[in-house]
Amino acid sequence: MSDQGREQWIRRAMRLVAHRFRQNRWMLAAAIAAVLAVHIWAGGDTRTVAAVVGALIVVAGLAPSRTAGLLATEAEETANGGTRGLSGENLAAAVTDPLIVFDGAGAVVHANDAAVNAFGALRPGILLLLKFRAPEMQEMIQAVLFGHAASRQIDFIERVPIERVFRVTASAVGRGTGLYVMVFKDQSETRRIDRMRADFIANASHELRTPLASISGFVETLRGPARDDAKARDHFLQIMQNQTARMARLIDDLLSLSRLEMKSHLRPGVKVDLRGVVESVIDSLSPLARESGVTVERDFPTGTFEALGDRDELFQVFENLLENACKYGASGGRVVVSIGGPDTNAERETTVTIQDFGPGIPEEHIPRVTERFYRVDVETSRSQKGTGLGLSIVKHILTRHNARLSIRSKLGEGAAFTVHFPAAE
Ligand code: ADP
Repeated sequence: MSDQGREQWIRRAMRLVAHRFRQNRWMLAAAIAAVLAVHIWAGGDTRTVAAVVGALIVVAGLAPSRTAGLLATEAEETANGGTRGLSGENLAAAVTDPLIVFDGAGAVVHANDAAVNAFGALRPGILLLLKFRAPEMQEMIQAVLFGHAASRQIDFIERVPIERVFRVTASAVGRGTGLYVMVFKDQSETRRIDRMRADFIANASHELRTPLASISGFVETLRGPARDDAKARDHFLQIMQNQTARMARLIDDLLSLSRLEMKSHLRPGVKVDLRGVVESVIDSLSPLARESGVTVERDFPTGTFEALGDRDELFQVFENLLENACKYGASGGRVVVSIGGPDTNAERETTVTIQDFGPGIPEEHIPRVTERFYRVDVETSRSQKGTGLGLSIVKHILTRHNARLSIRSKLGEGAAFTVHFPAAE
């Protein structure tokens, strides 16, 4: 053992002996008194008495006064400073949710940092009934304070500075401590996701119901007034066919989105030749380009351009972007597809840009066009066989590829959609 180790050991042993002396002091005093009483009453050798008292002192310094289990804790506490760090305040600080401890008068005893951040000043002594005025909070605090309920849980909406929804639980701390604790669980994100899901279902149902209503209307007309009108029958059947095609497109897009969501955490890891994918997209959409009166121009530098990805999904990305450029930017008469290598930008990204020269997108709509079912103009989208899901699918696929989409547009001059692939690691 080193000198320092020995010194520490001696100090620890002395602390333990002092601690046990303190614990056994009354027993020691009683034993010495008894020995002295016997000595005075019965007489005897003073040296023997001194030896007995000495032995008692040694025993008091060494003998454990409590049970074995407690002794282990005691030794540990004496040696390490023990669980002194396990104070209520330290525990409250370690909780990441807002937490407030209050007394039987409903006054704050302690609030952790998360609570102060969420609700502002919560100095000790502040009355919770004055701080939280919402009727549901008042009722819960009173119910717990008056012992109507051992613990209570409610949903509480804090509206300033921004709306947040908390699930609040209040309960007594242990038995007979006179203290109570209130914990706030932030539910805002869960609520937002629930609302998004409900909106999505409502939108999808609405999108399906519109063509369905149209088909059902035409079926009725064909069975009634138009029963014997061959010309009208052909016309209505054509409309019905278009509507079923629209429903099929919508269902395909919804399935695409759901498949992508299911594998959103999987990173595709095969090297894909971007030039090859873009070339085949341009080829496959040449009938649409021709129909729309659009010339597709290529601006590809020499060299190979690769990204880690899933070829079919990247095909879907460029197909959606080029299709939109031909449909919505047709009035510009041309679309330019360009590839930029890692040496063209500081981030060393590989980029693919699809630029049209049509009406462009008003600035305020740009941040929202990748949302599900968001269209700048619903009628134009419908007449172009749009589902309102194309750019949302693009965004999902790119997120899975660790890539991103940027949109630039000047009203009346066109729009440019750029896909940025991160530098290879
Ligand atoms: P849609 O099925 O309606 O085409 P998208 O998600 O692909 O759905 O696009 C969303 C909306 O963004 C479109 O309805 C359209 O209003 C707008 N948009 C997309 N691309 C262009 C473009 N190149 N020029 C003008 N507007 C566009």
